[in-house]
Amino acid sequence: HRRRDSCPGAGPLAAGPLAALVGADLQVPLVTGGTVRYANLDLAASAPALASVAGRVAEYLPLAASVHRGAGYSSTVATAAYEHARSTIGAFVGARTGSDDSADVAVDVVVITRNTTDALNLLASAVPDVPGTDRPVVHLDLEHHANLLPWQARGARVVTAGVSVEETVRAVDAELRREPAALLAVTGASNVTGELLPLAQLAEIAHAHGARIAVDGAQLLPHRRLDLAASGVDYVAASGHKLYAPFGAGFLAGRRDWLDAAPPHLAGGGAVRNVTTETATWTTSPARHEAGTPNVVGALALAAACETLAAFPERDVIDHEAELLARLERGLAELDAVRVLRLWPGLAVDQRIGVLTFTVEGVRPSLVAQYLSAEHGIGVRDGRFCAHPLLERLGADGGAVRASLGLGSSADDVDRLLAGLRQLLTRGP
Ligand code: PLP
Repeated sequence: HRRRDSCPGAGPLAAGPLAALVGADLQVPLVTGGTVRYANLDLAASAPALASVAGRVAEYLPLAASVHRGAGYSSTVATAAYEHARSTIGAFVGARTGSDDSADVAVDVVVITRNTTDALNLLASAVPDVPGTDRPVVHLDLEHHANLLPWQARGARVVTAGVSVEETVRAVDAELRREPAALLAVTGASNVTGELLPLAQLAEIAHAHGARIAVDGAQLLPHRRLDLAASGVDYVAASGHKLYAPFGAGFLAGRRDWLDAAPPHLAGGGAVRNVTTETATWTTSPARHEAGTPNVVGALALAAACETLAAFPERDVIDHEAELLARLERGLAELDAVRVLRLWPGLAVDQRIGVLTFTVEGVRPSLVAQYLSAEHGIGVRDGRFCAHPLLERLGADGGAVRASLGLGSSADDVDRLLAGLRQLLTRGP
C-alpha cells in the first residue's frame, strides 16, 4: 500500500498508520477530462480495508481450508485462526467471559454473521415472549431499517425520539414503565445525523424495567469503542465492511442464554449435535447459529481490523473527526441553500460521529451526488439511507445527501466538498 499525503489541518490520523487504507490513493476520472484523487466521503456506507486487514487476508488465502472439519494442517491452523478471530472480536467489544459455563447468562458469545442485518435478524428470533405484552421489543423511530424491520416482524413498540437526548431517554423510560418488554433495541449512532445515543444510561433504564438492551453498532464501532461489560449493554451487532474490513462478515455479541434457546439461524451442518433422518439435536451457540461453511476469511479480516482499531487511542479518532466535522459545518453554514439534518441540534461535534446529512434547496439529492462525483471526484451518498421514518420526520422524505468521514479522511476532502458545493450553487449542475 501507499500512504496518503498529509494535509494541513487534517490532524494526526490523516498521515498516521491508521490512514493506511487500501485504495486511499485511488485516482478517478472526471467528466471534464483527466483524473483526480478520489475523495471518499462515503465511509458510513462501506469503508476501505486497512492495510493490516489486507495483510491478514493474504496470509490466510494460501491455506484454503475451512474450519471445524478436518485434521489436516491447514484445517487445524484455520480453525485456530477462526476461533482466535472470534476471541479478538469479543475482546474488542468487551464481551463478558464469566465462568465459561454455557448455562451462565453472564457469559457472552460472539456469533459470526454476514453483517449487522443478519445479526439483528438472528437476535429477533431469540427474543423471548413476555407475559403481559405481545410486543416485547421497544425501539426508537430514528433507526436504520436493519434495526427496525426485524423488530416489526417480532412485535415492537416505537418510541418517538424527543427533541433532546434527555427527552428521548425520558420517553424510553416511560414506555418501558408503561408495558413490560424483553428488549430495548437502539442504534449506537445515527447513520443519518451521526448523533450518539447515551448507551450506558439507556442500559441502566432497560435493566431497571427488566428488559435487555441491544445496540446496532454498525455506525458506532468504526468511531467509538463499546465495552459490553462496562456499559451494561447486552447485545451488539456490527458489520466488517463499515469497520475497515471487507464485505460479507459481521457479528452479534451478547448474552448466551437467549441465543442457546433460539431456533438455529440456519439449519445445516455444524449446528447440530446429532441427526437422524427425522430429527436433529442442535448444539449450543455460537456453532448453533453458524451452520454451513463459515466466512473464515471475512472473520479473520474483521478481527484484524478490530485489533488495529483497538491499538489506537480512541481520543485521537474522536479529535480527528470532530475537527473535520467542525470544518465541514463551518463551511456549510456559509451556504444559505444548504440545510443540515439534525435531531438534537445542541449536540457538540464530539457527541457525534463524522456523519453529516444535508439537503440543497432546489437541487435533487441525486443530482448533487452525481455532480460531486462527475465534476469533482467526490463520493457521497444520496437517498433515504434505509431510514425512511427518520427522513420523513426530518422533513426530507425526498431524500438528502450524506457526507461521512473516518480514518484517513482529511481537511482536503472536506475543502473539496465545500468547493464543489459552492460551485454547484453558483454555476448550477
Ligand atoms: N445499522 C446502521 C446504523 C447502518 O448504518 C447500517 C448500514 O448502513 C446497517 C445497520 C446495516 O448494515 P449491513 O448492511 O452491513 O447489514
